[in-house]
Amino acid sequence: MVTTHNLGYPRIGARRELKFALESYWKDQSTRDELLRTGETLRARHWADQSALDWVPVGDFSFYDQVLDTSFALGNLPERVQGFHGDALDNYFRVARGRTAPSGEAACGCGAHGVAAGEMTKWFDTNYHYIVPEFTADTQFKLDASRLLAQLAQAKSLGVKAKPVVIGPVTYLALGKAKDDSDKLALLDRLLPVYAQLLDALADAGAEWVQIDEPILVTELDEHWRHAFNLAYHQLKACRVKLLLATYFGQLQDNAYLAANLPVAGVHVDAINGRDDVLPLINLLPEHKVLSLGVINGRNIWKTDLNAVLDWVEPLAARLGKRLWLAPSCSLLHVPVDLASEERLDAQVRSWLAFARQKLDELHLLARAINEGRAAVTAELAANQAALTARAQSPRVNNPVVKAAVAKISSHLGQRESAYGQRAPKQAAQLRLPRYPTTTIGSFPQTMEIRHARSEYKAGRLDDAGYQSAMRAEIERSVREQEQLGLDVLVHGEAERNDMVEYFGEQLQGYAFSQFGWVQSYGSRCVKPPILFGDISRPKAMTVEWIRYAQSLTDKPMKGMLTGPVTILNWSFVRDDQPRRVSCLQLALAIREEVLDLEKAGVRVIQIDEAALREGLPLRRSQWQDYLDWAVESFRITANGVRDETQIHTHMCYSEFNDIIASIAAMDADVITIETSRSDMELLDAFDHFKYPNEIGPGVYDIHSPNIPTQEHIVQLMQKAAERIPAERLWVNPDCGLKTRQWSEVIPALEHMVAAAKALREQE
Ligand code: GLN
Ligand code: ZN
Repeated sequence: MVTTHNLGYPRIGARRELKFALESYWKDQSTRDELLRTGETLRARHWADQSALDWVPVGDFSFYDQVLDTSFALGNLPERVQGFHGDALDNYFRVARGRTAPSGEAACGCGAHGVAAGEMTKWFDTNYHYIVPEFTADTQFKLDASRLLAQLAQAKSLGVKAKPVVIGPVTYLALGKAKDDSDKLALLDRLLPVYAQLLDALADAGAEWVQIDEPILVTELDEHWRHAFNLAYHQLKACRVKLLLATYFGQLQDNAYLAANLPVAGVHVDAINGRDDVLPLINLLPEHKVLSLGVINGRNIWKTDLNAVLDWVEPLAARLGKRLWLAPSCSLLHVPVDLASEERLDAQVRSWLAFARQKLDELHLLARAINEGRAAVTAELAANQAALTARAQSPRVNNPVVKAAVAKISSHLGQRESAYGQRAPKQAAQLRLPRYPTTTIGSFPQTMEIRHARSEYKAGRLDDAGYQSAMRAEIERSVREQEQLGLDVLVHGEAERNDMVEYFGEQLQGYAFSQFGWVQSYGSRCVKPPILFGDISRPKAMTVEWIRYAQSLTDKPMKGMLTGPVTILNWSFVRDDQPRRVSCLQLALAIREEVLDLEKAGVRVIQIDEAALREGLPLRRSQWQDYLDWAVESFRITANGVRDETQIHTHMCYSEFNDIIASIAAMDADVITIETSRSDMELLDAFDHFKYPNEIGPGVYDIHSPNIPTQEHIVQLMQKAAERIPAERLWVNPDCGLKTRQWSEVIPALEHMVAAAKALREQE
């Protein structure tokens, strides 16, 4: 008999109920009790969705973030929020959001300033962001198991076969940041007794199994961290629960021996990403331990090939007997809740998909096939097979023209006519820009009018012509503002774009869009990744008319504005039937056509945003170069088919380039604009040391903040930049797009920016 379980369920709700409840509470439009009740209702519903499983995760529900929950459970609150007298949940939101929850402020009496938010960063290689635990050499821990125990009590009262889920001590330390640069691992001795108390409290509350997540085991660990694992689990061995050590998102590789031999009752591995680990692990695993195989992909939205899984798992089931458990590869947090909600999704594409609920149905079916024999589920397996065959054979998935174009790619496709040194003077002669040229990153404020026009258009109340003229009016407005400001290279403002990936996905063949396919990104924020299902082609030009119109309004150079292939790929649900690399190259060929069409239309500067290039880095450093190679190649194919005179810009909104600078340089964009304003230009050191040869626009306006930068501050930042990069290769621009700001903030900020550039020119 095989046992089934799940590692975690999406908590945001099929209709994003949690999002709306949180935001209403934060705006003081509902009470804490109402929020707590929404939480209870969602948990009950989600457990009901999972009731066919042998073990159901409990404690995976969170009002904001499971890592922040862990910090609170361990009593590791940042000092700045300790001593808060209001409700604990409000204090939790203070750390999460950096300002006091409405009902907490008065009780606290600490004034209107609130507190700084905890830093947020990506959860492994997903698009989920967690609040980084903060440590110092003096950090003390103290158990507060109330949240977990309350969820467990609720589950028990509903008859749920509860398996509490906690983040393991080693991963918890690894994910945090020592604010004083002390050694985080030194805290392990202090941390473990609190974990022991937590596990015993769960045992007292009736838990038999506890899932303890240690995904850090799929990354490269040095001997100190490996030692920490041994230390931790030998100490927790005495606890009165059975521990299921869960790893996911990748391969154990050389950590397999360590994972197999920790004194726990069972191990979960990701059998999608770490399939090759499984057989060696079985050989290493002591005979009394459970092995849980994550055989259903928790990171994508495709139906599982159930027969293929059974072909692989049946012999393992025969060998392992009751020791075999089956599960999704990781928590289902990273997929949408329910495909059944989708009414408008293309019916054929829909028949190829599975969201969280459907993935659990698949798991149940696999267990039945193993426990009762495949004959017991013949019809279901046949239906699954039919859907997979239809997908594999669909002409909408397979486009021979695209496949042939990818097969024909050679390195000259990504090669500019001449090196930067030769093309730069040609561009300068054509563009005639001053020193320290000024520009912006692309978007201008998405005003009420823009949003209103878009929703009216989507609802069918505004016709094509009406929408076009509303957008043209917005474009004209931003061109006039930019001329008034005296910027040198203008943008059209991206009024017609709802989202920098969706906008292109909607116009490319091979993409589908869900209505409710939301996935939590952080807190109450969700994204709805487009679904890349087929070979990618571009039926017609996507941006040319808008840019041509914008250029017609001004004599200044107007930037064409595109999203690059790597970013489109990294922010989509992608195919599981071909390597990411191939999908990326297909996107590159499609966007390349757009670049060439823009050039043909007379556009002299073309920006190709690669905001998410860094996000795609694999978890293991040993795999970085392979990714970077095809990512850079894709960008080069997209960008480098233009004439010497055409200036290519790229933009990346992050600030860590040290470890990827060679690849960034290999992209060979004429100009790169980056986010630097908050790092005081120090990150330019990476470019300096590498002797980065092309032009750079280091951001001088932090667009995440409502603060208006002063002219002096911008001048200072640029002077620091000029200490590292020769002034003739510097641009002056904000950190990122301005779509989330108000015009009333943008105008003075850009006035100061333009004035700063003029002052810098005069100083020369
Ligand atoms: N061109 C985009 C904009 O300005 C870039 C957004 C981004 O980098 N995230 O909005
Ligand atoms: Zn950006």
